[in-house]
Amino acid sequence: MRIEEDVKLDFKDVLIRPKRSTLASRKEVDISRQYTFKWSGRTFDGVPVIAANMDGVGTMAMAKAFGENGNGMSVALHKHYALEDLLKFYEENGNKNVWYSIGVTESDEEKLDAFLASDVQKSGQGIDKLCIDVANGYSEPFVDFVRRMRDKMPDITIMAGNVVTGEMVEELVLSGADLVKVGIGPGSVCTTRKMTGVGYPQLSAVIECADAAHGLKGFVCADGGCTVPGDLAKAFGGGADFVMLGGMLAGHDQCEGTVEEDENGEKRVTFYGMSSSTAMDKHAGGVAEYRASEGKTVSVPYRGDVEQTVKAVLGGLRSACTYVGAVKLKELSKRTTFVRVTQQLNTVFGNE
Ligand code: 5GP
Repeated sequence: MRIEEDVKLDFKDVLIRPKRSTLASRKEVDISRQYTFKWSGRTFDGVPVIAANMDGVGTMAMAKAFGENGNGMSVALHKHYALEDLLKFYEENGNKNVWYSIGVTESDEEKLDAFLASDVQKSGQGIDKLCIDVANGYSEPFVDFVRRMRDKMPDITIMAGNVVTGEMVEELVLSGADLVKVGIGPGSVCTTRKMTGVGYPQLSAVIECADAAHGLKGFVCADGGCTVPGDLAKAFGGGADFVMLGGMLAGHDQCEGTVEEDENGEKRVTFYGMSSSTAMDKHAGGVAEYRASEGKTVSVPYRGDVEQTVKAVLGGLRSACTYVGAVKLKELSKRTTFVRVTQQLNTVFGNE
């Protein structure tokens, strides 16, 4: 047994120190980013914020809304759509702001293979960005799977995860991932930390993983734990190249959920983790004997059209950039100094 003594931080443990700048208004800030991916060679040009591949967030309606509103964000479609629906969606909407998501099961791969063999794929409108998502990205079979997908699809951008430490980011980048998804346990409807005791404070995970990825020309996507727009600023400030949002985008018209009224007449929508018993009942016929549910089901207020929320989120990010004098989102991390604020840490480490 070992104990790591150095401090690991969550978003709530820090604030961003303001800096003098020449910027007059948040309107002058450019929050889009341009990336060229290491393996696929493809480029990304947009706002690097992705709706999570969860039921109720990574929906086709969400992708259509983002496209129509031209906000530059993208959506990782959840993996439970039928092949015909996915083909139709790509045919009608193209691939600009969508990531096709898969797990590592045989049926996931069969569906992907059928898509890759389709006319939609041949037309160039098909999958160009893939998100390979498992709860625990530390297993050897997962790394082998990523390597196999890279061999099979040399020119498709691959995001893979989730992991939280630099050595595993390096392994995934070297195995063919263009982008590594970072986060174990921080999600709003995740119970991994409680059920297993496993996890890593998200801001430190992002800082350490970004450093590892950038050394190999890879990128990282900070996934989970953002609860307010300032958390996105902290993730980008810590070096994230992309940020993925679940709970912050839940409860909207585009979530394809049912809006219900509670006893006080308040409209609410059910939101659940992808390994919650709700999700497993819906998609896998129940929680398998050998595993526990590592996600929970919550009821969130209904919030109408997602565009209002997106404006608030991106407005917060722009404003954060003005506070530190970053004309472009790209400069945010260079201009970020975090100050530690958490009471508990100050007490533990005797800074008070
Ligand atoms: P949020 O933005 O809601 O804090 O986090 C979203 C992320 O939580 C997702 O992208 C995914 O990585 C993670 N997540 C989603 N469902 C579950 C679940 O049931 N269990 C766990 N452990 N993580 C989940």
